[in-house]
Amino acid sequence: MNTILLGPPGAGKGTLAAMLKDNFGLLHISTGDLLRDEMKGGTELGKTIKKYVESGELVPDQVVIAMIEKKLSEKNSGSKGYMLDGFPRTTVQAQDLDKILTKIGQPIDYALYMEASLPVILQRLTGRRVCRKCGAIVHIKNRPSKVAGVCDVCGGELYQRPDDTEETIKNRMHVYAEKTAPIVDYYAKQGKLETLSGDEETEDLLKIVAKIFNDGQRTDKIKGSTGH
Ligand code: AMP
Repeated sequence: MNTILLGPPGAGKGTLAAMLKDNFGLLHISTGDLLRDEMKGGTELGKTIKKYVESGELVPDQVVIAMIEKKLSEKNSGSKGYMLDGFPRTTVQAQDLDKILTKIGQPIDYALYMEASLPVILQRLTGRRVCRKCGAIVHIKNRPSKVAGVCDVCGGELYQRPDDTEETIKNRMHVYAEKTAPIVDYYAKQGKLETLSGDEETEDLLKIVAKIFNDGQRTDKIKGSTGH
């Protein structure tokens, strides 16, 4: 089962991805995580990337496409498919992804598109905290850790991503509307799009996605969704 997760920042892609990984054994590939790892390493590439990520701009296509191609070409024994989170984000990335997937014989089965309203997005992102050590995600109000600032999973430090401030979130939303939103149609035309409401609880979403995966049944039929 190969899936991509689409939707604006804060729609809940990362949280859903973590649950899908646990429930379906899919390999979670997040370009945001790959880029942040590169930045942590302090490499030349990491330094170049930093200014884009921290201002909410997109990293140049050729950089992220090369990263994804490398990751998808690695042997991923044990996983039952992949789940791309945060990629593609432009039409060029979507077209190049199709070429890479044709080459490796691993086409996409579903593009899960998570819609969410602006107030929900802002509330989620400004309250989001991430574990520096294991990457677990909490929310200071909706899903707080037992001890403030400490990860329940591994005891690591919880921090706020520098691009989760209100001003940068607004820029990320603008970039999303301009560059990423058009690719929803790209997958609709391929007949692979499933629209989900990111305003729903993650557990409910998991049930809906499980049904799609298990029955091959479309979301529209289950939820009366209007598409995008
Ligand atoms: P995310 O963790 O998916 O919210 O991504 C954080 C930031 O990483 C984005 O705001 C971009 O600056 C950069 N980024 C992640 N994925 C991509 C991509 N596919 N193309 C370009 N930039 C990306």
